[in-house]
Amino acid sequence: MNNKFVLCPRCHKYFSVNAFYKQGNLSDKHYRICKDCRVKSQKAYYHKNKEHCRLITQKHNDKLKVEVFTHYSNGIPRCAICGETDMMVLCLDHIDGKGNQLRKELNLVGGLQYYRWLRLNKFPGGYQILCANCNLRKETLRVRSGIK
Ligand SMILES: [Zn+2]
Ligand SMILES: [Zn+2]
Repeated sequence: MNNKFVLCPRCHKYFSVNAFYKQGNLSDKHYRICKDCRVKSQKAYYHKNKEHCRLITQKHNDKLKVEVFTHYSNGIPRCAICGETDMMVLCLDHIDGKGNQLRKELNLVGGLQYYRWLRLNKFPGGYQILCANCNLRKETLRVRSGIK
């Protein structure tokens, strides 16, 4: 029975030595923080790491989006109709309106797989970049004129 108590510098509570994870095989070496704090910090680390990975993926995806949009804008990504350059509202538009059909045929889920597919196929023609407004206007006109 070990009756030694150690102060955890993280939560400032006293614990018996057994409450500390052992470091390596040396019985007298313990992690300086208690088990509870250790678990908490590992969770925090995992969470931080997950967030970090998410940001990296996000960055990578943004790069792909910029690449695709730059190609179809022949330069700075901008709306082919009004010239809007805000990436947040720009989207890829299939000029003859068959984008969704193709997406379904190719079973591409979400914009990114579509962008990846476009890059893989050396950017096939028939696409343009539109802002959300112009895209909606085009869609509305298309529906009104009865073109399918
Ligand atoms: Zn602690
Ligand atoms: Zn526009």
